[in-house]
This record gives sequence, C-alpha cells and structure tokens, in this order.
Amino acid sequence: MSSDPNCVFCKIIDGKIPSRKVYEDDELFGFHDIAPWAPVHFMLVPKRHIASMAQLTPDDAALMGRIMTLAPRLALEQGCRPYPEGGYRVVVNTGTEGGQEVHHLHVHVMGGPRPWLRG
Ligand code: ADP
Repeated sequence: MSSDPNCVFCKIIDGKIPSRKVYEDDELFGFHDIAPWAPVHFMLVPKRHIASMAQLTPDDAALMGRIMTLAPRLALEQGCRPYPEGGYRVVVNTGTEGGQEVHHLHVHVMGGPRPWLRG
C-alpha cells in the first residue's frame, strides 16, 4: 500500500496533519520531531508507507541509500555542527522491542549541543 489512511506519518506527508517540513521530493519527506530529544531532531521518511525497517526488500536499497546520504546534508542545514567536532546521531527504531511507536519507517536525525534529553 502506498499510503495508509490510519498512519500519522502518511497524514503528515499528505498535508492532513501540519508539520515543520525540512525536505521533500517525489519519494522522501523530512520534518521536525514534535517532541525533540536533542536541539536538532528531524526525521526522514519514505513517502510510500513501509511499516518498518523489517519490511525492506532489496528493491528498497536505493531509497534507503538516498535517506542515508541526504541526512548529513540536512543535518548541517538544520544547525548541526560539522564532523568531527559536531556531528549527529541517526537512529531507526524497529518493532516494539526496538522502541518503535509510529509504524511508518522513519530515520531519526539528532544533533546539537549536549546534553540531550536522551543519550
Ligand atoms: P519513539 O516515540 O520511541 O521515538 P519512534 O521511533 O516510533 O518511537 O518515533 C516516533 C517519533 O514520532 C517520536 O519521536 C514522536 O515524537 C514523533 N511524532 C509523533 N507524532 C508526530 C507528529 N505529529 N509530528 C512530528 N513528530 C511526531
């Protein structure tokens, strides 16, 4: 399914729930986390509804590669200081025991001066 009507992140992508957008193209969407754990905290998501990392197939390799290569650029644009003194943390919570609460695959990008709320 490309969009799940019950999914909060699909609603954000569709503009039905407001968000603070940091990026958009034909297959990816980026927006600030509503409850940030760090001074900079945004998420990158595929527009297509993929429940979690556990559902990825080899066909998604390029999509995920795009997210991982976009994250460094956006992290700097959003105020993270450059590597190596600065930097950021990239996290993908997967499943209940992985701490995933929203079941639309999302890549957290967190950075900025410490201490952070978590970690
Ligand atoms: P966790 O809640 O443990 O971080 P996830 O990895 O599933 O679990 O992360 C979901 C994230 O989505 C949370 O950090 C939460 O603050 C964020 N979130 C939930 N609803 C919204 C929303 N409407 N806009 C922006 N971020 C949201």
